[in-house]
Order: sequence, then structure tokens, then C-alpha cells
Amino acid sequence: MTATIDHFVGGKRVAASGNRFGDVFDPSTGAVQARVPLASDAEVDDAVAAARAAFPAWAATAPPARARILFRFLMLLRDRLDEIARTVSSEHGKTLDDARGSVTRGIEVVEFACGIPQLLKGEHNEGVASGIDSYSFRQPLGVCAGITPFNFPAMVPMWMFPVAIACGNTFLLKPSERDPSAAVRIAELAVEAGLPAGVLNVIHGDREAVDALIAHPDVDAVSFVGSTPIAERVYRAAAQAGKRVQALGGAKNHLVVMPDADLDQTVEALMGSAYGSAGERCMAVSVAVAVGDEVADALVERLAPRVRGLRIGGYRDPDAEMGPLVTGAHRSRVQGYVDAGVEEGAALVVDGRGVGPADGANGGAGAKGDGADAGGFFLGGCLFDRVRPEMSIYTDEIFGPVLSLVRAKSYEEALSLVNDHEYGNGAAIFTRDGDTARDFTSRAKIGMIGVNVPIPVPAAFHSFGGWKRSLFGDHYMHGPEGVRFYTRLKTITQRWPSGVRDRADFSIPTHR
Ligand code: NAD
Repeated sequence: MTATIDHFVGGKRVAASGNRFGDVFDPSTGAVQARVPLASDAEVDDAVAAARAAFPAWAATAPPARARILFRFLMLLRDRLDEIARTVSSEHGKTLDDARGSVTRGIEVVEFACGIPQLLKGEHNEGVASGIDSYSFRQPLGVCAGITPFNFPAMVPMWMFPVAIACGNTFLLKPSERDPSAAVRIAELAVEAGLPAGVLNVIHGDREAVDALIAHPDVDAVSFVGSTPIAERVYRAAAQAGKRVQALGGAKNHLVVMPDADLDQTVEALMGSAYGSAGERCMAVSVAVAVGDEVADALVERLAPRVRGLRIGGYRDPDAEMGPLVTGAHRSRVQGYVDAGVEEGAALVVDGRGVGPADGANGGAGAKGDGADAGGFFLGGCLFDRVRPEMSIYTDEIFGPVLSLVRAKSYEEALSLVNDHEYGNGAAIFTRDGDTARDFTSRAKIGMIGVNVPIPVPAAFHSFGGWKRSLFGDHYMHGPEGVRFYTRLKTITQRWPSGVRDRADFSIPTHR
């Protein structure tokens, strides 16, 4: 019988009490491996109540004491890195190496959160007026909810909750229903590390659970990461309900290749950033903008054999460079874009449709027409040349192993493409020229920029977030912005009786 995944509420695993369930697949075989409960309003209520009950004591716990628990949690996460990575790979499909890397990036946020006593230090002015001192500090918000996407089932939750709980909040995580198991295991390890029951809870579900969380009067803040239409919807609804909200959305990341770029380095960068994790990354490069036909021709010539030669396989294949897509439905959607690109007139240089795993597993033979449908949601790498801005493969986020090459005549045209696109998550420029790179970092309307770095994901002690329709709200995730999001500022103006005594003053106080 298929196992059913538990929620994690009040410090322990809790069996589902509702009657709606979803399937969790093993994308590398296509088999259903578990059932995930889709929480009812009553289950969401119970989880919020657990988080609310835990808040006063946790908020009153001194930051160094919170940090000590986070340190123990950090050690446990490091010990269990491989186990968590395997869980991620088995439900998401990404290669084990890639899963290990993503869990490591999540663990780095826990490292950052261990510094919370330092991060929460306020400001103090002596003598802002005669006998009056002024100081400020930051306090936790209360119960914070996190709603996360399928593509990083461990890392994106760890962008949120380590900072939130370090700041003294309690947290309720609603991970993606497509790969929900890693979140439960991570919450279990937090409790093993000494986190009090109810401080970190995990509730599974779909839109119904998200709507219940957003509307819940006992939820004070909402962090969302997912696709742009849902991010915008969550942002509007949560703001309307009076909550603090940050909602990170989709992306279409461009990599501009200047004529002076190191082409070998650029090709390696494009391969990893476009096809790693089968393109299911919000920082994946999905558009290469070649400045000049000479660069474009050289890129296509070097990229095409590499894309054809990609080693595709399930996470049990240690040599696989690219795994399957997360579900059959998602693969159909991505293939639909490839079909549309051909119809719209782009040149499909490498066609990955129908390409299966390299090792022949699941019936595939790495050759066209084989395998992909015999089991596993595989799709080979696709490369388009001569893509134009009006085509759907350019305007839309595909979220699959599809790289579009656009030919620009000049640097200014390339920059306009970057700036005119509706998304503004990441972008990169490959060049040897410092002036051009500096101009790009200054003028690109993008949240995270790489100079000869294809996936410029900021380190945990910086903050992650995009511009334009890649982020709704004001604060980014983790780093200093994360601390600001999960706390609110209080400013104290203080005088002691020995200070100068004023008469009643009927005008606004100044420091006369
Ligand atoms: P998604 O928007 O379908 O789902 C995200 C979350 O929202 C999930 O927990 C899901 O259960 C919930 N959800 C789905 N439909 C909903 C609805 N109608 N109402 C309320 N909640 C709903 O995203 P996904 O397919 O899981 O993830 C891929 C997307 O996430 C891509 O667009 C990717 O770019 C984006 N993403 C963005 C970032 C970033 O930092 N900007 C990071 C990772 C992923």
C-alpha cells in the first residue's frame, strides 16, 4: 500500500485527518511513491494554534539561547545532508550532487541565523535632546507562514524559517505538495536539536491550505516563493488581510555574451545554468543574448554537441548530468513550449523531445524515440537559435531544459532586452571589459546580477530577491533583509526624573 506522508505539528508527526490527498511521484521512474494529505481548514487551524501557543515563550527566549539550538540543528543537518538530499532527489528528480548542493545552500542560512544576537543589535543615541536618550530594537512579529515551490524542497524553506525563528517568531511551513517529505524530516531534526514543540510546524496542502493560512487572523506574516501569477495573488490577498508579505515569483534570466567574452568559459556556464536541474531553477539561464552574429554562430557551434551529449538519468545514476522533470504534466507543458517555438519560427538546433536516460534505465536508451515514455518524466536538452522577443518561448517562463538564443546587434540592444522583459530576477554578462560590466551592473533592472558568474545566487549573509514581476513586496529573503522582514522596529525615547524638567509644551517636541 502507498505510504501517506504526515504533517508535523506541535513537535511531532501528525497523521492527516482530512479526506483529500495528492500523489507524490518518483520522477525518475514515473511511479507514485506516496500520498500527500491536502490539509483542510480544520487541519490548518490546528497547526496555526500550535504555532500561536508556542510564540510567547519562544519570543521571550534570549537570542543566544535560540542561537545555541540553531547551532545544534546546524550540526544535525550537516550529519544528515546525504539523507535529506536523497529525499529531495527521489521526489523532485534532480541529481544527487545537485540536491546536495541545494541543501548545503539552505544550511548556510542556518549558519547565518546562528549569528542572531549580533543581527538583532539595535541603535542608541545618547542625548537626542537635553536629558533624553533614544534607542531602537527589533521584535518578532508572531506566527509566520511560509509557502514554498517544488523546485527547492529543502533550500527555499530554509531561506525562510531559520531566520524567522532566530528572530523569535514561530513558523508554519506549507511546502510544495509535489515533494513534501524533506520539509518534515528537517522539522523533525530541528526538534531533535532542542527546538520547542510548536515553533516550527509543517502542514501539507494545495490552494485550499494556502487560502486558509492567508485568511487566518492568527497568522501575522506570509513568505511565498513560487510562480508569478500565484505570487501576485498571494501578495494581494495577504496584504488585503493586513499581513506583512513578501512573494517571490518566476523568472526569465538572460546571459549576455559580449564579443570579447571567453567562449569556453561561457559555454560551460551556459550548459550548467540552462540544463542543471533540468532548468527547474528560478535562477536558471533560459535566454542567451549573443552580441553580434559571429558570437552567436560560435556559441551555437559549441553548444549543440554539448546539449546533444548531455547525460540524462535518474538520481540513482551517479554520472547523470540532468534528471527528469518533476511530473508528467510539467513535462507536457515544457514540450508544448518546444512545439510552439518551432511553430513560431525559431530554429530548433537540438530537439530533446523523446530523449530518454543514457543508461537505458526505465526503458530509455538516450536516443530519440526511446525511453522517455517508458517510465520517468525525462526530456532531453533543447536549444533554440534565432529566437525573437515576441515568441512565447521568449516571453514565458518555461521552467525546463530549453535554452533560447537571441541575436542582438549591440550591447544597448542586449541591455534593452534584459530591461524590457517582465521578469527581473537574475541576469549575467560575460565579458572581459570592465567598463561594459560596470555599465551593465548599474543599468540592468534586475535584482541579482552576475559578472562572468551565470547563477548569481547571493550568499546567505546577503539577501535574495528580484525586481519587476519577480517579487511582490518590499523585503528580500535571508541576509539583513530577512531579519528586517521577520522583525518590526520599536524606538524608545527616554528621560529619567533627574533630567531637565520642562513645563508643559503645547508645540511639537524639538530639541530646543
Ligand atoms: P507554484 O506557484 O505552482 O506553487 C508554489 C506554491 O504555491 C506551492 O506551495 C503550491 O502548493 C502553492 N499554490 C499553487 N497554486 C496555488 C493557488 N492557486 N493558490 C495558492 N497557492 C497555490 O510554483 P511551483 O511550480 O511549485 O514552482 C516553480 C515556480 O517557482 C517557478 O515559477 C519558479 O520561477 C518559482 N520560483 C521562484 C523563486 C524565486 O526566488 N523567485 C525560487 C524558486 C522558485
